[in-house]
Amino acid sequence: MTDFNFNTIALIRSCYNEKFGIPRQSGLVENADAVIEMQAPYNDEDFIRELEGFSHIWLIFVFHQHIGKPVKATVRPPRLGGNQRVGVFASRSPFRPNPIGISVVKLNKISKNDNTIELHISGADLLNGTPVIDIKPYVSYADSIAGASSSYASDKPEAKLEVSFSALASQYINEVREQYPKLRDVIQQTLSLDPRPAYIKDREKHYGLSVFDFNVQWRVEDTVAEVIRIEKLT
Ligand code: SAM
Repeated sequence: MTDFNFNTIALIRSCYNEKFGIPRQSGLVENADAVIEMQAPYNDEDFIRELEGFSHIWLIFVFHQHIGKPVKATVRPPRLGGNQRVGVFASRSPFRPNPIGISVVKLNKISKNDNTIELHISGADLLNGTPVIDIKPYVSYADSIAGASSSYASDKPEAKLEVSFSALASQYINEVREQYPKLRDVIQQTLSLDPRPAYIKDREKHYGLSVFDFNVQWRVEDTVAEVIRIEKLT
């Protein structure tokens, strides 16, 4: 067997501080902005010359929270209700023998200052601090295949929950709107996808979503997710 040693070329700065709530695929929460911070020695303009001409990029990254965790041959994709097993290589699960992920994201702009190069993206399904090991341009003639079939993941998941905000939560969002203009949209789009594990749907339970600098408390009644309160993370 050949082993490889790759280094981190960039780090992700994302609004998602914990795994719970992160969309299960890129592009599902369009407002999930993130920044790719190029790391030395790749914080040199030459490495990204002409990249701004591409509207989308592929990120190849490491599921760093799963490094060293035990891996099984089969996994239970949430798309199959969480109780049917498929081979790990027939899935996009983060629990894999080599914990590597691939995501297509929208490239909004590139900012360059002194030794800093930042790629501003949206539609990310990535944890804050995720190490990126490669970036490639999305090339539509090769990467988009008309008529491709995708077994159990053929359609984009629909929004499952309506999202309502308590007066308290709405007031808080207004108070921080200037610094966090996308807070409401990110919460709304994230919760509408129903991030609860497929096999645990507890009506009484209060859930916590950690986004930006906040803990968002929410619960579900029937098909409505209610945002109860939002607090600054300490
Ligand atoms: N688009 C990628 C792919 O297909 O390889 C990722 C799909 S994977 C199903 C998405 C999930 O990975 C997210 O919902 C989150 O739970 C998890 N995730 C994202 N970043 C991670 C990280 N750095 N370490 C561990 N898990 C992560």
